Amino acid sequence: MKSPIPDYLHHVLEVARPNDGGAAAAYIETLAKADTSKMAVALAMVDGNVYSAGDDRVEFSIQSIAKAFVYAMAIEDSGLEAVLKKIGVEPSGDKFNQLSLERNTNRPMNPMINAGAITAHTLVVSPTATLHQRTERILQALSRLAGRQLRVDEEVYEAELRTADRNMAIGYMLKAAGVISCDPQEAVRGYIRQCSINVNVQDLAMMSSVLANGGMHPLTGEQMIPQTSVRQVLSVMTTCGMYDAAGDWVSNVGFPAKSGVAGAIIGALPGQVGIATFSPKIDERGNSVRGVAMCEQLSRDMGLHMMDVSHVARSTVQTSVSTLVDGEHENHNKNCERKVIVFKLRGAVRFPGAERLTRALSRELGESDPMDPGSGDHRNACAIVFSFRHVYSLNFIARRLIHENITRLLTEHKKLVIIDPSSVLEWDPAKAKEGRNPMVVKDDTEARDYIGGTGCHAVSQDPEW
Ligand code: GLU
Repeated sequence: MKSPIPDYLHHVLEVARPNDGGAAAAYIETLAKADTSKMAVALAMVDGNVYSAGDDRVEFSIQSIAKAFVYAMAIEDSGLEAVLKKIGVEPSGDKFNQLSLERNTNRPMNPMINAGAITAHTLVVSPTATLHQRTERILQALSRLAGRQLRVDEEVYEAELRTADRNMAIGYMLKAAGVISCDPQEAVRGYIRQCSINVNVQDLAMMSSVLANGGMHPLTGEQMIPQTSVRQVLSVMTTCGMYDAAGDWVSNVGFPAKSGVAGAIIGALPGQVGIATFSPKIDERGNSVRGVAMCEQLSRDMGLHMMDVSHVARSTVQTSVSTLVDGEHENHNKNCERKVIVFKLRGAVRFPGAERLTRALSRELGESDPMDPGSGDHRNACAIVFSFRHVYSLNFIARRLIHENITRLLTEHKKLVIIDPSSVLEWDPAKAKEGRNPMVVKDDTEARDYIGGTGCHAVSQDPEW
């Protein structure tokens, strides 16, 4: 069967094509001569699968899209605290090349406008690094994100440098305000070089998929950007990525994005997909006219708005009670009812799932409440089993809450067995409170053998137990 996804992407291109508004950026000679009939779109899934349509191998300069990744590099090289001291995170509502600084703090408003981006550029490697060291670091990092060796388009670089008066003015403003300490001309030349790196939509979709994938490269599995930086980058992309169109963008399209004056837009929907579009004609805000139209359609058709909740966390926890019957060795605990209560969790468990488990534990194993018939019925179960067999992941708060539940149950001297074949719980016996540990096993049989004796089985309504 032929996948319908590339056909759909062709359809997206053709729907956007008649949108003939805007014009190629005029202030950079090479961009002004761009072939405005070119158009492309690409999606890169978080497992590295790329779909594309249109002029997907046509190269253009990355321009402002580099700002998002260079911001991540500045955080990596100088630390978030140092970066936040120099660059704010407030949307400016100004043009991208506005000569402006935040009142009171004298910082550029955010890293997505030129003043912030030039500052971020100077924080790559170190504030004392040379232009060559910084631009090489940026070129190689972007190449690794794209999965191929990229190069600087010297013609674009020279053309932009010839008309860089405004960016030079921004550089001197930053120096005068004490935001940057290096030579302003060198900072701006480095910044313009980073803007002049050539890419195509497939490269950009792959680069965005790294952001969508929590900073891990979908193809190599390498953690390219720490998760905390990804969150920072996606946050500023959401509020400041589309220049002064941020509000329109968030309400209409609803995924973190960044545009560049050569006509490309990237988008990254966390956990799902990296997106890239290209069409050179841009509107008065600097965003590609057809690119915006394509992103709007992709978001609508594919349900990519980040505020659309796909499903509410429900029934993540399944509770069942089984009675164990003798196996080969009779070593049941004679004092108990030989009832085992099993709590099964499923999927990617976050706070709501862990809260449901906590609630189920308190209801089943706590004091009985006359207002809640059935509550406290299993306080005397001979063992409690948590099954994480179908759990794909626990986030930090889910893990912490479940660890706390385990510690409390063990303090009450409950017999606790955890089925955790993939070690998602990350229980560390060395850190257990007063050396109290649950029994951690790989499967149901091992759990039953441990609780009821080798070969014992369970009578229950739950076919798995
Ligand atoms: N090189 C461009 C500039 O600083 C980048 C602007 C953009 O892509 O928005 O003027």
